[in-house]
Amino acid sequence: MFIACHSDQALALLADPSQLEVDTLGAIAYQDSDVLLHTDTRMLPRRQLARAAWNYHLADESHDPARPAAATLTYDMNVLQGLQGPERFCVSLNRSADIDPAKVLRRLRYAHPLYTPAGLAAQQLHGEVNGRQRTYFCGAYWRYGFHEDAIASALAALDHFETRTSTKVPRRWHQVAEQTAAVNQALGDQMDHASLALQLTPHLQQP
Ligand SMILES: Cc1cc2nc3c(=O)[nH]c(=O)nc-3n(C[C@H](O)[C@H](O)[C@H](O)COP(=O)(O)OP(=O)(O)OC[C@H]3O[C@@H](n4cnc5c(N)ncnc54)[C@H](O)[C@@H]3O)c2cc1C
Repeated sequence: MFIACHSDQALALLADPSQLEVDTLGAIAYQDSDVLLHTDTRMLPRRQLARAAWNYHLADESHDPARPAAATLTYDMNVLQGLQGPERFCVSLNRSADIDPAKVLRRLRYAHPLYTPAGLAAQQLHGEVNGRQRTYFCGAYWRYGFHEDAIASALAALDHFETRTSTKVPRRWHQVAEQTAAVNQALGDQMDHASLALQLTPHLQQP
């Protein structure tokens, strides 16, 4: 059985999880974000030159440092999706109160992995936990939380399956692996994501 959803969802699906599954999946938490699709461009940097596809908002200095604020950022969807046209579409995480309600198109809730020292340690147990109870887990939470991490974790889970069962699965995954490797190389062998995760850690850790 391969389970390809978030760590907390995977754990909830198991009727009789092992202690290792409880400890490993339980250590990698997810955090909900309040997400708005909108056209309130005040959420983008005022200076055109400072605008990027991802625009991080600095945390409010007045927040209680003992209770770190959730990560806040605005995606410029016209850049990300190559949208042409007069309207600018934005997606903002955790800034709902500051966005003009008249410009909100849709409200969503998404979850991102929450990176903590315990979670990073648990990631090292992917090969250990996979297949122990004939259950294999994949998802971006095993790495840095991005699309290619989800794919890479699925390839790793297949490797674990082959090792555990001494079988070879006929697959065309080498094509995906080659594409993943090319993306990783383009991103600086994941170092950008690693440093991003570390930078975000103080903002993402729960109180
Ligand atoms: C707002 C936002 C912006 C993002 N931007 C980027 C980006 O620019 N670049 C990037 O690389 N990544 C980005 N990501 C991250 C990217 O979306 C994830 O890395 C990727 O989707 C993770 O894949 P996954 O398979 O681990 O989980 P998901 O894509 O979340 O898939 C898990 C699936 O499991 C299903 N599921 C849950 N419970 C059950 C159940 N009980 N039974 C059956 N199915 C179930 C869910 O419906 C879902 O389809 C972004 C994420 C968010 C939220």
